[in-house]
Amino acid sequence: MPQSLGYAAQSADADLATITFERRDPGPDDVLIDITHCGVCHSDLHQARNDWKNTVYPCVPGHEIIGTVAAVGSAVSKFKPGDTVGVGCLVDSCGTCAHCDEGLEQYCDTGATGTYNGRLPDGSHTFGGYSQRVTVKESFVLRIPDALDRAGAAPLLCAGITTYSPLRHWKVGPGQRVGVVGLGGLGHMAVKLAKAMGADVVLFTTSPGKIEDAKRLGASEVVISKERDQMKAQRHRLDFILDTVAASHDLNPYLDCLKVNGSLVLVGVPEEAHPSPSVGRLLSRRRSIAGSAIGGIAETQEMLDFCAEHGIHSDIEMIAMSEINAAYERMLRSDVKYRFVIDMATLA
Ligand code: NAP
Ligand code: ZN
Repeated sequence: MPQSLGYAAQSADADLATITFERRDPGPDDVLIDITHCGVCHSDLHQARNDWKNTVYPCVPGHEIIGTVAAVGSAVSKFKPGDTVGVGCLVDSCGTCAHCDEGLEQYCDTGATGTYNGRLPDGSHTFGGYSQRVTVKESFVLRIPDALDRAGAAPLLCAGITTYSPLRHWKVGPGQRVGVVGLGGLGHMAVKLAKAMGADVVLFTTSPGKIEDAKRLGASEVVISKERDQMKAQRHRLDFILDTVAASHDLNPYLDCLKVNGSLVLVGVPEEAHPSPSVGRLLSRRRSIAGSAIGGIAETQEMLDFCAEHGIHSDIEMIAMSEINAAYERMLRSDVKYRFVIDMATLA
């Protein structure tokens, strides 16, 4: 079996450190991938530190994987050695339920298998992309268009699809004013994607230092969310808001910004629940609050092709594998511009 070096958390309060483990030999439907880059998602930090109380250790995070095909199984037809490929948050699902049939593997009735911390039939669990190589079923491997740069494409595999999917589902487009809350990994992709879809984008941030960047990335207005007057000026103006914040916060000020029939869609997964929102604010303008999880494989490919067509990459800061613990601390201080990507060559 192929050996892989990786970086793992051994407990909730331990720094990530080197681990050696085995990847499975590629079966007939499998692709063995040499990983070159892996994006750093806030979910990696939540999972490594057991914020969601479901982490199995050792935990090798990483679900924004870019690499080169090293070998393929006998039944693989879409990929060949040397191809540039991607792997996102999922590596398997039942393949037979109504949701899998529809290409919504993330909502698989029996639970899709996460790229890390995912349960395997033999009782073991999956290890993610902070590693040298990975074996993945062909149907969960993505084609990376030639027009995309490898490092800048890595974050598309989670941050990109997690924002693209709700923007598409809620039919964001020209003539709409769309709010994005939080300018981090997900938020900066949401700004770029919503703008490319033709919407007018209003960015809500807690960081005054990000105003210029938000405008460069595509926001036409930037609101400092702690400033009551600035929040008040957005009342009843927005059709849709995507909230990417990783911490518990009051949703009511954002509900106030929505028009009649507007939707506030949550993609951030805070450790503590948000305070319960006001029913009056919901019913007085028939507003909705909803959630959305990543995206299916077909939609992830569609998003990658959309990004290639529109010249969209993530704004990244490349780090060495050994810098991951410091990167997590910076992420907790909202000090990322706007996604860390690990250069996996630094792991060897
Ligand atoms: P990130 O890069 O850390 O960005 C989060 C941003 O939220 C920060 O940059 C900051 O932006 C803002 N923020 C942080 N703390 C805040 C606070 N206390 N109050 C208000 N704003 C705050 O994180 P990410 O990788 O984008 O992930 C964001 C969340 O989405 C995480 O919880 C992650 O687990 C979750 N996630 C969900 C899915 C899904 O399928 N739904 C997929 C991936 C990730 P400003 O400086 O602009 O305020
Ligand atoms: Zn993620």
